[in-house]
Parts: sequence; structure tokens; C-alpha cells
Amino acid sequence: MKTPKSKITIALTGNPNSGKTTLFNALTGSRQHVGNYPGITVEKKEGYFETAQHVLHFVDLPGTYSLTAYSQEELVARNYMIREKPDLVVDVVNSASLERNLYLALQILELGAPLILALNMMDEVRKKGMTLDTLLLEQRMGCRVVETVARQGKGKQELIETIISLRTRKDERRSPLRISYGPDLDPVLNEMAAIIQETGFMTDTYPARWLALKYLESDEQIISEGRERSLETSNRLEGAANDVAEHCMKTLKTYPEAIIADYRYGFISSLLKDVVTRDQQRQRIEMSDQVDKFLTHRMLGPLFMIFVLYMVYSLTFLVGDIPLSLIEDFFGWLGDAVRAVMPDGLLQSLLASGIIDGVGAVLSFVPLLMIIFFCIAFLEDSGYMARVAYMLDRVFSYFGLHGCSIMPFIVSGGIAGGCAVPGIMAARTLRSPREKLATILTAPFMTCGAKLPVFLLLAAIFFPANQALALFMITVLAWASALLVSKLLRSTIIRGPATPFVMELPPYRLPTLRGLMIHTWERTWQYIKKAGTIILAISILIWAAMTFPQLPEERLAYYDSQSVILEGDLASLPGDSDVNEKMDEILSQREQIEFSLAGEQLAYSYAGRTGTFLEPVSSWAGFDWRINIALVGGFAAKEVIISTLGTAYSLGAVDEDDPVSLAGRIQQDPDWDTKRAVSLIIFVMLYAPCFVAVVAIARESGSWKWAGFAMVFNTVFAFGFSTAVYQTLKFFI
Ligand code: GDP
Ligand code: MG
Repeated sequence: MKTPKSKITIALTGNPNSGKTTLFNALTGSRQHVGNYPGITVEKKEGYFETAQHVLHFVDLPGTYSLTAYSQEELVARNYMIREKPDLVVDVVNSASLERNLYLALQILELGAPLILALNMMDEVRKKGMTLDTLLLEQRMGCRVVETVARQGKGKQELIETIISLRTRKDERRSPLRISYGPDLDPVLNEMAAIIQETGFMTDTYPARWLALKYLESDEQIISEGRERSLETSNRLEGAANDVAEHCMKTLKTYPEAIIADYRYGFISSLLKDVVTRDQQRQRIEMSDQVDKFLTHRMLGPLFMIFVLYMVYSLTFLVGDIPLSLIEDFFGWLGDAVRAVMPDGLLQSLLASGIIDGVGAVLSFVPLLMIIFFCIAFLEDSGYMARVAYMLDRVFSYFGLHGCSIMPFIVSGGIAGGCAVPGIMAARTLRSPREKLATILTAPFMTCGAKLPVFLLLAAIFFPANQALALFMITVLAWASALLVSKLLRSTIIRGPATPFVMELPPYRLPTLRGLMIHTWERTWQYIKKAGTIILAISILIWAAMTFPQLPEERLAYYDSQSVILEGDLASLPGDSDVNEKMDEILSQREQIEFSLAGEQLAYSYAGRTGTFLEPVSSWAGFDWRINIALVGGFAAKEVIISTLGTAYSLGAVDEDDPVSLAGRIQQDPDWDTKRAVSLIIFVMLYAPCFVAVVAIARESGSWKWAGFAMVFNTVFAFGFSTAVYQTLKFFI
């Protein structure tokens, strides 16, 4: 025997575009019927879904945002729920904007209708990186919640099962949801609800509190219906509503409707607390946006950026100074040990002056470089570096560059310690060939890790009280030179329009220590590798260039004879009270002779001859032949500048009691002064890039012409600048 199937009527409601019709179609397929609601043109769509025991009758109500009587659609939806009393109401909501969509759901609950919430468009929610705590929402709303993706038919089965289970349990009508509307409206609402209850005013159709609310909202349809039922009760209610409306107008300058809406949204937002969570990625992006309000602020952003750069330098000097002096001491001690243990001669000279001094001078800066690299890695990994790029774009486009030029500049040493070779390679991200070329040609002005030791050394000697400030000024000058030269190039030989800036700002993240260590070590290791190979080789080459050809026999014989005379004087010293004074005099004479010998030997060498040859011109900028040798060597690799100076001075000054570090020697040399140091800093900053960078320029620009240009132009520009500064300072100091 066949038992008749039980019929369940379900009203589908929801905001327009929440996917109601899509869900309706997915549920009912072709079993649809389209008609009109009696007396009006609003379309009524009905459809069926059959299971073994049930026939599900779906009615697709018109889309509405609310259940007030502002429009025909709202009225139809409301009246259907109230008058037809469907077994269930399924509210289809766009889960991606729950806050707005729940406004309708709340009113359905206030009406006391049996509600199932279909959280539609869950695919959008996931795409936005949000998660919804459905169980929590269920608990808070006091109704069943089903996740759906109507367009893909997902959640359809679960929805049907939920409908059937709610129906078969034959839940009695639930009591309507009570929301507090605050101290102004609640007492009136209660009063009005009591009147309605007492008089049984339309309580067969509507919940009492809901009716009272409608009177407060001045719902025309309800009020006119009420007047027909009982003019007296309706008048009482209207009077109460008018009183409170006047009161609200006086005290709060608003209508009760607005207060009601406010409290509903307040209720929703507390309902949704902890229900909607943005995933971590999303949260980080939002947190980043908050942080960026400050960090890329028009005024505060640049200030903070300058502060960060300055802190990087300060940290480097503060912390880096300790291992720096330890390493310097070690190599000084090693050189001395070799000189003491080995017999005088070419081999001792090669080891102590060529190798140990050369590599030692370079390695001693490893700790400083490590700290700077660490800081840069932190800024890059945290995402702050991209903000620096973003903020500088306005400036960059003015100088004919691109926001992306920041990367080549920074990698080249825009924050001291980079390298022009990867910097030039990083210009690959630039699309416009002109901006790319301008970037490639000016990035080598930046303070690369190889120039840095020169700056660190000179700053430590000549600006001991303001080292950090000096380095900061150097960086500013490097930037200024790069930007101005770029502007010059872009308005002359590489003229052309700019391309707009597009760059993603990655969300901030706390860098991992491991990541920082790896970055730091990679960069430092690159430096050491270079120091260990190219620099050592060149250091030896330069040692050879400074050692050969050796002085002719007769000059050596002359110095020998001078020494012999002094030795004789020393031996014949009388044993009286003058002995100490006399001995000091002889010793210092002997020292003079050794200095002269060394100096003459170096001047006689190939390197010395080149340096001397250049001296008449280089002296305009304050450079003597020793510096010239170092600068020529610096073209091979900027790291060599320091080691060459070290070699040059250890050959020139033989006194065993001298401080072994190059710094000590420069400090004692009267030829060295502030104006020479400043001039040298400028020249080193700006002159020809090292040959590896020149090769990179040729490769990236696609032409050796530009590589040649970089060498000649930069050197001429640097020399002109240094000379101008040196001559000006000479005038003042
Ligand atoms: P209605 O106004 O509530 O009847 O909404 P419709 O059913 O007409 O759907 C509005 C739009 O949302 C249509 O373009 C649908 O394809 C789309 N849509 C419906 N459900 C989903 C869903 O679950 N996910 C996504 N991404 N889109 C949906
Ligand atoms: Mg529709």
C-alpha cells in the first residue's frame, strides 16, 4: 500500500543577487511554474522536488533587503511568510557580505518564521581568504545554517536533508527573536506589546512585539490594516509611536526607524564576532594596510625611512667595531710574526706585504659588512624595502627613472654594502630601455660593499666623532649624484618619455632568523670569495708592480753605506750622560734612511712610475702617487683600493713600532688631511666601475659603447668633482 507523500512548502527569500533563483533552479530543475501574485504584477515562481516520502514545494519570493512595506516586493515577501505560513523559510544569503545580508534574516527571525540560512557563494568567501564558523553562527542565530554554492549545485543535498529533518521533527513554531532597541525604544515597545496582547489586536496574524515595531517604523500597510481592525487600539498605538518619535527627534535628532536599523546592525555585528575570520594571509594584508598608513604616509613615511637607514649605519658601527679591531689586530700580528721569523728578502716581503696585508685589510671588514647585509636582509624580508621603493617613485620619475630603479640602486649599494654587478643585473625588471640604461649607468655610483671599506676607513680616521653621520652623508651624496646624472643623461643622450609605476606591496612579515642568516651569509661569502681570489691575485700583482724593477746596485750600495756609517756612530757612543739623547738621534736618522730607501724603491717600481706620472694631474684633487696606484688597482676591483694602500704603506714605512693597521699609518702621515679624505671619498664614489661591473653594463645595455662610456664619463666626472671640492676646501682650510 502506498502512503501519500507529505508536502512541505518552503519559501526562498533573500537579497537580490544572492543566488536565490540559481538555487531554486538547482533544486527544482524543470518542474517550475511561473505565475503572478494575486492582484499585482510581481512574478511568483513555484517548483517541486520529490523524495521517497516528501514533496518539497519551493516558492521563489521576490528579492528584498528588508521586510518593511517600502516596496511591493517587500510586501509580497512579508505577506507570503505571514499569511501563507510556509513550513520553512530558506533565506539565501551572499556569505561574502554577511553583515548586510543578515539584516533580512534577522527580521524573519523577529517574525518568528522557521528559518534555514543558506550560506550561498561560499566559493567567493574562500576566494577572498575568509572562513566562516558555521556552527557558531548556528548557535548565535538559533537556526540551522547550510553552506551552498548554488552555481555548482553544492550543498543542495544537505539543504534538502535539513528541510526534511526540520519538518519531520514537527518543531512547533519558535518564539520570535527579541532584539533590544535601546533605552529609548524598549520601554515603549514593551508598553505597546502589552496593549496589543491585552486587546488581542491582530495577534492571530502577527507577533505582538513585531506589530509594535511596525508601528514605530510607521509601516503604512500594518497601520491601515490595524485601523480597520480596531481604530481605538490603533490610535493608542499610533499615539505612543508618535510620542516616542517626537522624543527621539528632540533628543537624538533622528527617527525611530533609524534607531531600529542601528540596533539591528549592532546586533548583527556582535552576532558575527569571531564568526567571520580572515585567514592569516588576509589578516596580514589588512595589518599591512594599517601599518602602511603610517609607514608610507606622505610626511611620516620618508622621515621613518631616513630614520631606518640611519639606524642601520649606527648599528653597523656600534656592533661592528668590536670584531673589526680584533681582526685588524690579528692580521697586524701575523704580518709582524712573518717579518720577525722569516729572513729579510723578496719572499718575506711577498708574504707580509703582498698577501697578509692585502687579504687582511679586506677580511677585516667582513664583520661590518655582515651586519649591514643582515640589516638589508631584514628590510627586504620584512617587506619594508618595497615601501621604500614605493615612496621614492615620485622622486625617481622626476629624475627620468622608474620606481623599479630602486632595486638596482639598492642592490648596488643604495643602502651601503651592495654590489653594482647584481645591481645592474636587477635592472632587468625595467621595461623601458631608456630608464633601464639610465639606471644601469648611475647605479655604480652607489656605495657598494667594496667601496664601503674605503669610506669606513676614512670616516673612522677623519670623522671619528661622527662616523655614522659621515657614512650617511656619503650615501646621500651617492644618491644625489646618481639622480642628478640620471636626470642629465635622460635629458640629453637618452631622452624619452617615462613609463608608469606598477609594483605590488607585499604584506609585512616578520623575517625568520634562518632566512636572514642565509641572506647575510650568501652576500658575505660572495665578498670573501672575491677577496680570496681576484683580490689576492691582484694584490700580488700590485705587490710585484711595486717591488720590480728593484733599485740599481749603486743606490742600494749608497743606502748600505749610510747605514754602516750610522752603525759605526752607534758603536762609538761614549758612555757619558748624553748617551740617550745621542742614541735617539742616530736611531731616528737610521729610520729616515730606511724610509727613504723604501720610498725610492717604490717610486722606482712600475707602479710608482705610473703613480708619479699621473701625480701632476691627480694632485689637483689632492692625490699623490700612492693613492694613484691604489685607484688604478681599484679599477680591477674596488676591494683592492684598501689592500693596495696597505701594501704601499708597509713598503714605505718600515718602523717596527708603527701601528700595523693602515689607519694608523694614514693617521700619522702629515700629507693626509680632511680635504684629501673628502676628495678621495668623492672620487672613489664616482669613478669608473670595477671591470666586472663594466662587463655587466656591456651585457645589460647590449653594447660595449655604454661600458666604455661608463668608464670614461664616470672617471672624468669624478675627477672634476673631486678637484672642485678639494680646491674649494683648500681655500677654506
Ligand atoms: P537572485 O537575484 O537572488 O535570484 O540571484 P541569481 O540566482 O540571479 O544569481 C545572481 C548571480 O550570482 C548570478 O550571476 C549567479 O550565477 C551568481 N551565483 C549564484 N550562486 C552563486 C554561488 O554560489 N557562487 C557564485 N560565485 N556565484 C553565484
Ligand atoms: Mg532571482
